[in-house]
Amino acid sequence: MSRKLQAPRGTLDVQPADGRRRLRIQRIAAELLGRAGYEPFDTPVFEDTELFARGVGASTDIVQKEMFTFEDKAGRSLTLRPEATAAICRAYVEHGMHKLPQPVKLWTWGPFFRHEAPQAGRFRQFTQIDAEALGSDDPSLDAELILLLAELIERAGAGPARLRLSSLGTPETRAAYLDELRGHLRDHEGELSEDVRDRLEANPLRAFDADHAGTQAVMAGAPRLLDRLDPADAEHFADVCALLDAAGQAYEVDSTLVRGLDYYTRTVFEFESERLGAQAALGGGGRYDRLIEELGGPPTPGVGWAAGIERILLASEAEPESDSRVYIALAKPDAMADAFGLAQRLRGQGIRTEIEQAGRSMKGQLKQADRIGARATVILGDGIEVKDMDSGEQRAVRDADEAAARVGELLG
Ligand code: AMP
Repeated sequence: MSRKLQAPRGTLDVQPADGRRRLRIQRIAAELLGRAGYEPFDTPVFEDTELFARGVGASTDIVQKEMFTFEDKAGRSLTLRPEATAAICRAYVEHGMHKLPQPVKLWTWGPFFRHEAPQAGRFRQFTQIDAEALGSDDPSLDAELILLLAELIERAGAGPARLRLSSLGTPETRAAYLDELRGHLRDHEGELSEDVRDRLEANPLRAFDADHAGTQAVMAGAPRLLDRLDPADAEHFADVCALLDAAGQAYEVDSTLVRGLDYYTRTVFEFESERLGAQAALGGGGRYDRLIEELGGPPTPGVGWAAGIERILLASEAEPESDSRVYIALAKPDAMADAFGLAQRLRGQGIRTEIEQAGRSMKGQLKQADRIGARATVILGDGIEVKDMDSGEQRAVRDADEAAARVGELLG
């Protein structure tokens, strides 16, 4: 017997009710990001594997364990994109966007891929909205982006969300701090989890993320990066905080905030839903002032975030449907041409109109009109009647013009 075909593990089919909710979020994002000067931008779904190895960081979980990597027919190594920022920076360099007026503000939406263990809110293919501001290190961009993500979460109905905020400083401060932290970890090596011990040299910051009780105890006494920032970074962070304060945005400064990507400098942040379980992060991001240079471009600062659509949908309630619909019922077999004409006309006026297209009896057609939530049903037979689906009143009209007018009245 042949195997039953199913969607691959960790992927999901978007069914119509969710499809509508996704579209709504996309519209909210387009509108609120557009108002702040962010332009739509798209990059390919797959890239050279090297882009992510260099951009995301060779020691990250994403690069070490989670990439969907394959060879094309010419033997080139390609990878399905696990995140958006590296590719946007690649495109910025490739198209000489440093010659444009700065900052260049871009946003994108689409599928991303990580080979993770699937669970509630964690998929192998998921959808992100991503916003980036490239070419300026002004702290107002950090604050602006944070406020935009807060508004997106709020307007999508996924609030309340907790905002955690920190600064990672510049690579030099971080290097000195990491040496200090490694020293602390080495002093307590026996108490650490195996995973943290193995990655102690490559990525000691990840120890803050550990679930392991012994490691957590060691980390409680560890030095904090926020206390080691150099004056310029500390001032940048204070400016970001002051702008958020002025905007009335609540946040928690959390010096243990570590993000799973290596490229961050200075500001990092994450929004967590108070309604979700283990996978509570709705979105997050930060500043990456060295990434573009790392990818072969001129020194160019940047800041951005990514939000997970599936998580936002999980944290928000489904909205009742609001658009009014019209159903056109056929009371005689040759009414289709008229029905078709009327449907074209109503759809042209922006009214959602469905025609009977499955050969139902009249009783079945009225039932179908009810099922789709029609506000009015136009019945085309020897004459034309318009039924008010709320009151049940059925009124004869002279012609298609009068039918359209009556429908307009009912839909208000
Ligand atoms: P990250 O790039 O890891 O900061 O991810 C940004 C956002 O994308 C997260 O806050 C999640 O909302 C979402 N996200 C990341 N990985 C996954 C995944 N495997 N499944 C679903 N959503 C994800």
